[in-house]
Amino acid sequence: MVIKNLFTEKCPKCKEPLTIGQTSLLSSQIVKSCPQGHYEKEYHPALGSYIETVKN
Ligand SMILES: [Zn+2]
Repeated sequence: MVIKNLFTEKCPKCKEPLTIGQTSLLSSQIVKSCPQGHYEKEYHPALGSYIETVKN
């Protein structure tokens, strides 16, 4: 299942599991982020792809 994979990803920097939140009740967009703030990954269902942000 795709959903299961969403829950097993980890920050590329500190290897902490990413936390998951939704940006808006009006969209099904999913944002996963490092609890330490290193990394963010947004899933856009309309695009069928992710947008990744690595923070320094
Ligand atoms: Zn991290």
